[in-house]
Amino acid sequence: MPELTVPELLELDRRHVWHPYGPMPGRQEPLVVESASGVRLRLADGSGELVDGMASWWSAIHGYNHPVLNEAARGQLERMSHVMFGGLTHEPAVRLAKLLVDMSPEGLEHVFLADSGSVSVEVAVKMCLQYWRSLGRPRKQRLLTWRGGYHGDTWQPMSVCDPEGGMHELWTGVLPRQVFVDPPPVAYEESYAEQLRASIERHADELAAVIVEPVVQGAGGMRFHSPAYLRVLREACDAHDVLLVFDEIATGFGRTGTLFAAGHAAVTPDVMCVGKALTGGYLTMAATLCTSRVADGISRGAVPVLAHGPTFMGNPLAAAVACASIELLLGQDWLTEVKRIEAGLRDGLAAAAELDGVEDVRVLGAVGVVQLDHAVDMKAATEAAVREGVWLRPFRDLIYTMPPYVTGDADVARIARAVCAAAREG
Ligand SMILES: *Cc1c(COP(=O)(O)O)cnc(C)c1O
Repeated sequence: MPELTVPELLELDRRHVWHPYGPMPGRQEPLVVESASGVRLRLADGSGELVDGMASWWSAIHGYNHPVLNEAARGQLERMSHVMFGGLTHEPAVRLAKLLVDMSPEGLEHVFLADSGSVSVEVAVKMCLQYWRSLGRPRKQRLLTWRGGYHGDTWQPMSVCDPEGGMHELWTGVLPRQVFVDPPPVAYEESYAEQLRASIERHADELAAVIVEPVVQGAGGMRFHSPAYLRVLREACDAHDVLLVFDEIATGFGRTGTLFAAGHAAVTPDVMCVGKALTGGYLTMAATLCTSRVADGISRGAVPVLAHGPTFMGNPLAAAVACASIELLLGQDWLTEVKRIEAGLRDGLAAAAELDGVEDVRVLGAVGVVQLDHAVDMKAATEAAVREGVWLRPFRDLIYTMPPYVTGDADVARIARAVCAAAREG
């Protein structure tokens, strides 16, 4: 096939290619990206570059085309890009597991490498249900979560996503019926803590686990809540024989100002999912970590194995880049960078609070959110941001940004201007 012109490419894209959460054919024309470097996406139509305010959905924390990550990929490519993980092992996967265990909350000891965030949540749920089966309590098979969450798009994750107004509302009644409590308030409220305790106690006989996104709820509504609720969950789960799962796929690797959001409350979950920034945005990989209690429980059961094994499990190329990305992160003063971006977003987004149609402005770590009092006009908002030279991808009533940690002050200010422009015109 000869090289495609931009109009040809767009025509074929429209005809054949499904995009996230899109109809077929697509209604909104995507931008064609030719290459990316640092925090900039270069467009193929010759119109220039955009500063990426999305870090490719939380993942590209070190920016694009990073020499260290490139070198890790290149070096691994020359050794092997993949071998099966059944009966074989290799240094990139082993090193990655060790790095993850060392950096995550105390007590998480075992690592299951999955190929996407959603799959890591499936594995987390399977671990929890199987744990109780192994202990002779198969009735414990439901999950409890708070509303407003997002845990991925495959079946079990969809069942714990926000059941109303979210992306998976269509499937209410078809999905496994989980136990939902109200969304967590921003500040600590004892009455809400009581609701959590009471719901966990009431359903304890049928609950395998509580699963939540700690501190920041991502694609379910970009809401923040008091870390104190994590301690409430930990205590109630311990008191009533329920496992606790933290989905740190969005919050992991420093995004909220601690390495993992669990660190805001010094709580160790029984199971933790990571993904998104795991490979610095280079390749698809996620991981499910668990404690020895969970692993031993599963391994003592009538079926003493975790029956899960993706074809590309432990992919050496992704694992090698993940190791390099984690070492790059830990080898720098990442907290200062995240705090610097937090301060820049706070300054730059303050102006949005004055705009008509803006309901709330909030910033935590390197995450900035402007919530409107109406559904955003995606096309108008995106175009307004592009005119400021920035790539944003609003959804529902939310215009938000979580830039790469390497975004300089001038670019953070530019992103904030673009969020304001999108809020004004969206
Ligand atoms: C993105 C996300 C997922 C799903 O990860 P994928 O890699 O897209 O499957 C799950 N949970 C949270 C909190 C996420 O942000």
